[in-house]
Amino acid sequence: MKDPSHLLQHNRNWAEEMRRQDPQFFSRLAAQQRPAYLWIGCSDSRVPANQIVNLMPGEVFVHRNIANLVHTNDINCLAVIQFAVEVLNVKHIILCGHYGCGGVQAAIDDNSHGLVDYWVWSIKLTYKRHRSWLDRFAPERRPAILCELNVIEQVSTLSCNRVIQQAWSQGNPLQVHSWIYGIQDGLLRDLGMCCSAGDDPEALFREALENIKRRADGV
Ligand SMILES: [Zn+2]
Repeated sequence: MKDPSHLLQHNRNWAEEMRRQDPQFFSRLAAQQRPAYLWIGCSDSRVPANQIVNLMPGEVFVHRNIANLVHTNDINCLAVIQFAVEVLNVKHIILCGHYGCGGVQAAIDDNSHGLVDYWVWSIKLTYKRHRSWLDRFAPERRPAILCELNVIEQVSTLSCNRVIQQAWSQGNPLQVHSWIYGIQDGLLRDLGMCCSAGDDPEALFREALENIKRRADGV
């Protein structure tokens, strides 16, 4: 296996190129970060947040975990949300799933995945909740649909988050978005559930769910 020290050389080349393009780039970043976006996405190596939306260092605050989950007892994710909203004052939270997600697949199949099985328990519940409808599709189609359902479930959870609720009650224009990324074509899709102050998240969830179902049913 190749020694990772070549990555240090990659880094020196990258930093040199950045300084060549913009001599003040690093000194400006060192003074302050002011990202407009919080990205909550999957840890999957094929879905690098900055790269797929072409944002530079300093432009997006990132939290990633297996299957882009927002658990209400995950102090890591909750702290990230609080810091992003209350300190960084981000304007948009982008919950981004992706097709071909191994975490979503792990929630569907009957194999044992160790700790991952505990981590993806909420996706298993989502699968159970929609199982009678999902089972009408060929087995190979179900994971992609469940990836979409998982995104809007997480946005629904985010809309109940106390920090976000408080921000909205104080007139913060913060928006929470539901996106999904296609590894097969490099493109992002908006699943249409966008929550902001004054919205009814339950109604937005139902609408997004119906749209996912309509698309899947080919109606
Ligand atoms: Zn994934």
